[in-house]
Amino acid sequence: NMQRKKLIAGNWKLNMTQAQTVAYINEFKTKINTNSGTEVYLCPSFTSLQIAKQTSEATSIRVSAQDISQFDNGAYTGEISAEMLKEIGVDTVLVGHSERREIFKEDDSIINAKTIQALKNSLRVILCCGESDAIRSENKTDEWIKAQISSGLQNISADSLANIVIAYEPIWAIGTGKTCDSVEANRVIKMIRDHLATLYSKDLADKMQILYGGSVKSSNAAELLSQSDIDGALVGGASLKAEEFSLIVNAAAVALR
Ligand code: PEP
Repeated sequence: NMQRKKLIAGNWKLNMTQAQTVAYINEFKTKINTNSGTEVYLCPSFTSLQIAKQTSEATSIRVSAQDISQFDNGAYTGEISAEMLKEIGVDTVLVGHSERREIFKEDDSIINAKTIQALKNSLRVILCCGESDAIRSENKTDEWIKAQISSGLQNISADSLANIVIAYEPIWAIGTGKTCDSVEANRVIKMIRDHLATLYSKDLADKMQILYGGSVKSSNAAELLSQSDIDGALVGGASLKAEEFSLIVNAAAVALR
């Protein structure tokens, strides 16, 4: 679909010091094809956000936080607010990553609150969803994903959708090397788009970028990105090496549809 730009985001998780961040970006920026119109994001740890912004200045690389507090300020030890992120020039956040849901016990209402908090502060949101192995085995994938999307977007107006990107990340494919089959990933993403059309409108749903995530690497990126409804990728492990991640970014530029 030509009206949607491709978006490739690298989620570094709990990796990369400031020194490693600078070395990475200085290599990465020389290797990516910047004329393709693909949106490129790096998602470093909080402590590396500012140096990542500085090092990628005057490039097309954008920087996203991995998380955000749902609160403005106050007695919330360890949290980072929207205002703090904006102060250092961060304009995008990941919300609802399966590791936040599973390891840190964030439920749908927290994820909805974080999404609302980000949007209220003019931050763009990459909202993640995805089913476990068990849900898939029970043939409950579609209803699970629809429920996650509906609750993640609760009380969010149609006007805000332009600032939301959805990432479909089947949990069984994250960090396992087991990529979701490209046709199946495309089917689920199309199903998400149809659900967004039901919640909002077909016109708005057709404009939304929906990414695939789960063991994306340079060897499978082109195949995934050539699918009709896959608008990009959220990449974990394979984003930790500048060379490998640049190959994924450059695959987006040439993916056939
Ligand atoms: C992720 O955690 O967002 C992810 C997709 O990880 P990986 O690429 O390592 O499977």
